[in-house]
Amino acid sequence: MRRILLWAARNPWLRQHVPRWRFVRRAVRRFMPGEEMGDALAAAERYRADRIGAVFTLLGENLTAFDQAEEIARHYQELLGEIAKRGLDAEVSLKLTQLGFDIDPKRTFGLVDDLARRAADMGTWLWIDMEGSAYVDGTVTFYERVRTVHENTGLCIQAYLHRTPADIVRLLPVRPAIRLVKGAYDEPAAIAYRKGPEVDAAYLASAAELLGAVAEGRATRLILGTHDLRLIEQSAGFAEARGLARERIEVQMLYGIRAGEQRRLAAEGFNVRALISYGSYWYPWYVRRLAERPANLVFALRQLLP
Ligand SMILES: Cc1cc2nc3c(=O)[nH]c(=O)nc-3n(C[C@H](O)[C@H](O)[C@H](O)COP(=O)(O)OP(=O)(O)OC[C@H]3O[C@@H](n4cnc5c(N)ncnc54)[C@H](O)[C@@H]3O)c2cc1C
Repeated sequence: MRRILLWAARNPWLRQHVPRWRFVRRAVRRFMPGEEMGDALAAAERYRADRIGAVFTLLGENLTAFDQAEEIARHYQELLGEIAKRGLDAEVSLKLTQLGFDIDPKRTFGLVDDLARRAADMGTWLWIDMEGSAYVDGTVTFYERVRTVHENTGLCIQAYLHRTPADIVRLLPVRPAIRLVKGAYDEPAAIAYRKGPEVDAAYLASAAELLGAVAEGRATRLILGTHDLRLIEQSAGFAEARGLARERIEVQMLYGIRAGEQRRLAAEGFNVRALISYGSYWYPWYVRRLAERPANLVFALRQLLP
C-alpha cells in the first residue's frame, strides 16, 4: 500500500485531477489548516496557549522558471515579517527545489542567504528540508556553505539512508543544527533501510550521536522530527544521560498528527513545535502523509459520506 501511495504521489494525471475532488479537499484539512499564509499564522496563534511553537512550510512543486523561485522567496520574506510582527514562536522550513535548486543553484544560494539574514534579524531560524535521494548530496553541501555564514540555519537528515552516519561526521565541523527524521521517500534497498525496525535502530544511533554532540557543543540543536513516541522516549533518555535539560530536547510533529501527545510533551517541559504546511500544491505532500499511515485512507474515504 505504501508503495502504491508513493507512486500515486508522483503520478502526473493524479496530481492534476485529485486536488479538484471535494472529498479529498475536506480530508486534507486534517493535516493543514488552509491554503493561505493567514491560515497557517492563525493555526500557530492557537498553539500558543499550549506552549507549542510552530514551523511553517509552504508546499510547492518543482519549478519551471527561476522567477517562480524568486516569488516564493518573497513569500517567505513576508512570512518572516509576519512572525516578528505577531510575536510568534515560529521558524521556517523550506525545500531547496522550491527555490530553484534544479535551475540555478548559485542563485538559490543567494535567495537562502537573504532569507537566513532576514530570519536572524527577526530572531528566528531557517531550516532546509531533505528531499529524495537525488538531492541529498547537493543539499548537504549547500547546507555546509550556508551554515558557515548563518548560525541560525538547520538541515533535515533522514535516518533511513545508509549514508546518514557519514553525513553527520561530515557536518560536525560546521556545528550543525539538525532535524532528524525517518525519511518520507520510496528509496531502494541499495541506499536505504526499508524495514521499520532497521530504520528505528538507525534513527536511535544517529539521535544518540547528535545528542552527544549537542551536549558537548559540537552541534547546536537536535530536533526529533517524529511521531514515534518510543523513539522520542529513548532519545530523551540519551539526552538526560548526557546532562541536557528538558527544554533542550526538541520534538517536532506535523500539524494534526498526535495533537494530544504534542500537548502532553509540551506540558512535561519538552520543547515542542508543530510543522504547519500550507499552500495550494498539497497533493504529493498529502499522499506521502497517507503512505506513512495507510489507515488515514479510511479517514479520507469517509469524507465521501455526507
Ligand atoms: C517535523 C517534521 C519534519 C519532516 N521533514 C521531513 C523532510 O524534510 N524530509 C523527509 O524525507 N521527511 C520529513 N518528515 C517526514 C518523516 O520522514 C516521516 O516520513 C514521518 O515523520 C513519519 O515517520 P515517523 O517518524 O512519524 O514514524 P512512523 O513509524 O511513521 O509513525 C509513528 C507513529 O506515529 C503516528 N503517525 C505517523 N504518521 C502519521 C500520519 N501521517 N497520520 C497519523 N498518524 C501518524 C502513527 O501512530 C505511527 O504509528 C518530517 C516529519 C516531521 C514530523
